[in-house]
Amino acid sequence: MSDLFENTERTELSQMGEFGLIDHLTQNVKLYNSSTLKGIGDDAAVVSHGDKKTLISTDLLIEGIHFDLMYVPLKHLGYKAIMVNLSDICAMNGSPTQVTVSIAASSRFSLEALEDLYAGMLLACDKWKVDLIGGDTSSSQKGLIISITVLGEANEKDIVYRSGAKKGDLICVSGDLGGAYMGLQMLEREKAVFLQTPNIQPQLEGKDYILERQLKPDARMDIVEMLKALSITPTAMIDISDGLASELLHISKQSKVGVKLYEEKIPIDPLTYDTAREFNLDPTVCALSGGEDYELLFTIPQSDYDKIKGQPDISIIGHITDESEGNYIVSKSGNVYEITAQGWNAFKQA
Ligand code: ADP
Ligand code: MG
Repeated sequence: MSDLFENTERTELSQMGEFGLIDHLTQNVKLYNSSTLKGIGDDAAVVSHGDKKTLISTDLLIEGIHFDLMYVPLKHLGYKAIMVNLSDICAMNGSPTQVTVSIAASSRFSLEALEDLYAGMLLACDKWKVDLIGGDTSSSQKGLIISITVLGEANEKDIVYRSGAKKGDLICVSGDLGGAYMGLQMLEREKAVFLQTPNIQPQLEGKDYILERQLKPDARMDIVEMLKALSITPTAMIDISDGLASELLHISKQSKVGVKLYEEKIPIDPLTYDTAREFNLDPTVCALSGGEDYELLFTIPQSDYDKIKGQPDISIIGHITDESEGNYIVSKSGNVYEITAQGWNAFKQA
């Protein structure tokens, strides 16, 4: 991560003026999509998705609430801020096409700091060929505030809501879960150590995978493309921002169905598992309640089983039941527990 500290000069934002700052931050913006008719530079951007539907999602990130600059480098923050927005479009089975970025920064931030933020954002935009088409720039009294709006496109018939899961459907998830949460635990621990003894070196060796899961998540556009290639349209889909349990309950509530999940099927990376143990945490609880993995959770009809079964990055973790059957997880030892937004209710066995 040493490349993150390349900007060592300090230019005060007050030296730049608002327009100078906007021009400077957006000078490297490239446009990739023909749907962007006009990007930065006028009173409004102009976008046309032709005969497709437009998907819109927006996110607000506030320093001290959503991110901690003590351990999150600004380049990573920019990258993640864009990716989590793209992930929301993926969760609708759409393709992200444009973003707008609004920032408010206090005088604590230099021009070089905002350059790092934008470098991360443009890296994320470049990965999935999304256009940065506008935004707004302001000062703030304290801290950094970032608001991002993403636009995407999809054919109406391809759009997947949280509400379409049907009894008998298979519940699938991409990638592995709990890693971003364990990465956060590592960073929080090292921050606490640093605050006590500032000259001690952080103990983060061997933890690259979970640190990346926390600091550099990827929107699973590759899964959206894979589903398209397999001719699978999920019946319901959501991205995992708050944790598997919470997202399953959203699908259950909006689809008016029940959920049966199998603990042994939940994909957990060995490093996530071992680190959870090191912290005296239950790895399954980390996967259920941890959040920020930005994997896709989706349901498919049983008839699509043959299409999905060999896919290396997809796990089938359970199935949809009747609403009256409630939301339950079957533990490795065969006990059945109710799923709650916090994970599972270990005290109330069914
Ligand atoms: P207005 O006065 O209409 O709000 P601005 O002077 O704020 O216009 O913005 C000029 C142009 O720069 C607009 O196209 C706007 O979308 C874009 N822009 C402003 N701030 C940012 C930013 N932080 N990132 C990207 N584009 C921005
Ligand atoms: Mg403005």
